[in-house]
Amino acid sequence: MSGFKLTYSTMFSPPRELHTRFAKAVDSLAEEFGKRHGLFINGGDVHKEAVTAKSDPADQDRTLGEFSLADETDVDTAVMAARRAYPAWRGTPWQQRVAILKKVAGLVEERLYDIAAAVSFEVGKNRMEALGEVAEVVEFCNLYARQMEENNGYDRVLPDDPLPDFKSHNRSVLKPYGVWAVVAPFNYPFALAGGPVAAALVAGNTVVLKGAVETPWSGQLLAQCIKDAGVPDGVFNYLVGEGATVGDALIRHDGIDGVTFTGSYEVGMHIGRSQWARAFPRPCIAEMGGKNAVIVTAAADLAVAAQGIVRSAFGMSGQKCSALSRIYVDARVADGLIGQLRIAMRNIKIGDPRQEDTWMGPVATAKAYGNFEKYCAALRTQGASILEGGATLRAAGLERGFFCAPTLAEAPLEHPLWAEEMFVPVVMLGRVESPGQAMALANGSKFGLTAGFYGSDAEVEWFFANIEAGVTYANRPQGATTGAWPGYQPFGGWKGSGSTGKALASFHYLPQYMREQSQTHI
Ligand code: GLU
Repeated sequence: MSGFKLTYSTMFSPPRELHTRFAKAVDSLAEEFGKRHGLFINGGDVHKEAVTAKSDPADQDRTLGEFSLADETDVDTAVMAARRAYPAWRGTPWQQRVAILKKVAGLVEERLYDIAAAVSFEVGKNRMEALGEVAEVVEFCNLYARQMEENNGYDRVLPDDPLPDFKSHNRSVLKPYGVWAVVAPFNYPFALAGGPVAAALVAGNTVVLKGAVETPWSGQLLAQCIKDAGVPDGVFNYLVGEGATVGDALIRHDGIDGVTFTGSYEVGMHIGRSQWARAFPRPCIAEMGGKNAVIVTAAADLAVAAQGIVRSAFGMSGQKCSALSRIYVDARVADGLIGQLRIAMRNIKIGDPRQEDTWMGPVATAKAYGNFEKYCAALRTQGASILEGGATLRAAGLERGFFCAPTLAEAPLEHPLWAEEMFVPVVMLGRVESPGQAMALANGSKFGLTAGFYGSDAEVEWFFANIEAGVTYANRPQGATTGAWPGYQPFGGWKGSGSTGKALASFHYLPQYMREQSQTHI
């Protein structure tokens, strides 16, 4: 095995070895199909009678495995296990927690191809997206470990009191909260579980993770890495269940002390409110949806814009919170942009996400497949029209999966779908008269996650100064609104996209899992 590592740059120009190793991992994964998987509570697997048979979204006839489903009693058992494990974990010197987190990172890296193959089967994302998702967790773990080290475990000596007779010694210490609930989404079941879990654990909290019923496998693979790294029993627990029942029981449980949620706006707002409707407030880090816009001015390089737009609208079949769904283009260059988009869209290779040349796989769930048809129908009404795509795909090789055509629709600026997150491979285009109008429309959304811009260099500062979004990109061919990489682009939302405005993988994220204690003694 060579020393090659999966990094931000190798993601964009993958060496041959990456493909060979991924293909090998896909072949050996076939032996795993059909197995039974339990929940992970207090250091052991817990098998339940209630299971979900998870199938491959690219081929409904392929069952990936049977996964146990938690009920409310399991929530209680897991939270209690985490409570019991908390005092010892909190009391473990932070240097030891850092060492364990680095071990987790090492194990994820060692198993990177096997985990990515499973993620690709589970969600239907292509190999680069799947490898990227797993590699992100390695980065998250190492980043938070390094931040603990650079900040001396967030333990800082402050100046003594200046009073000559009462010379107090002062100190600021960040301490964990207790038991942290993490509710992960289906679209990034490994990275958006692994990132928050890593931060919560290294800060000294114990964790109960709830994975989505649609994507139960990734959390299991994460649990194995955490267990094998030597995290003590009860410090990390993993449940799978429906949000409305198991998720709700978890976030309402008296035994948790904080929650991180990634998912829809409606659920995020519900969780946020519930954390304050108590005797005292509990912290809630909610990363919610997006309705991400790009502004294309008359000065834009349209070929570059089209490349970035197509990547961000249709990468992972549009199922990223960061996905691009609104294009506001200067009317004078709109036809030129549409022409470039048509060319780029017709070049998209759709198919089995495990194949090397596949760029777009299926959508992840039957629900998204149905939503796609519903939105396409709506984009043929109220003055809107579909310019490209607009149908599910049933050609030979695609008929057993949830495949959808990448879809571009032009719509009048008052069409109701400009305001609705769709989470399918559909992007809307509207013609505007000026950059100012485009900015007002881009900002006129309850969301504020990512945003993109294509125009002259002189306009870029204006864009950054005025756009209301947490993750912003200008003139970027590799993605108009997507493709953040830990350590390079901190990733977090404003407004209805994020509750704290502190981005995952930024300098500001980890301290949210701790509370400050000021210590003064004579
Ligand atoms: N980090 C991913 C990106 O920048 C998106 C994560 C998400 O959509 O939740 O494209």
